[in-house]
Amino acid sequence: IFITFEGPDGAGKTTQVKLLERHLRQRGYDVLVTREPGGTPVGEEIRKILLNRNYKDMDAVTEMYLYAASRAQHVRQVIKPALNEGKMVLCDRFVDSSVAYQGFGRGLGMDVVEAVNRYALGGIVPDLTLFLNIRPEDALARGRIRSEELDRLESEELEFHRRVYQGFLALQKKYPERIKEVDASRSIDEVFEQVRRLVEYLLSC
Ligand code: C5P
Ligand code: MG
Repeated sequence: IFITFEGPDGAGKTTQVKLLERHLRQRGYDVLVTREPGGTPVGEEIRKILLNRNYKDMDAVTEMYLYAASRAQHVRQVIKPALNEGKMVLCDRFVDSSVAYQGFGRGLGMDVVEAVNRYALGGIVPDLTLFLNIRPEDALARGRIRSEELDRLESEELEFHRRVYQGFLALQKKYPERIKEVDASRSIDEVFEQVRRLVEYLLSC
């Protein structure tokens, strides 16, 4: 079973992945936690390039292919083998982040990003995607983003995060069966309660 976590920066994805990992382990599941960009040695190198502040001039198309390249490696080296062994795979960001950030945020469009990722994905589709829904303004205001980052956040950047957020909403509308929304503006415990319910529903099917 493959579960992905998506949502804006500061939504609390990493925290919820860890809580779900602990919960599922206690219930006896064999759980693998991973993340994107990254998740493999090659992918972690690509992540370093993507997050390197010296490369702020990176073209959006280059960026899209690097995320897809990291994903191609991740799917083949880690995710598919783990699923074949019957593991429960939890991934902190996956293809929906590419659609939201590069497709909507950077304006490449949903169709282009989905087309480029189709081959990278090798047929893998999450069984459940938990969309941690919080408006970017609220995620920033709540302080889950480091304060120095907040200072540097110019209005242009806020506009970027607003477009990314619209991207997540559009994805949820397009894939309502797969993408389930969680109100991430609530407390960590309340958010986890929603996560737990959705996962238990999936496991009962
Ligand atoms: O999830 P995490 O915080 O580790 O993501 C690292 C950074 O990569 C974030 O700042 C996020 O905005 C960015 N990102 C991106 N495009 C993606 C995925 C993540 O710009 N497709
Ligand atoms: Mg995180």
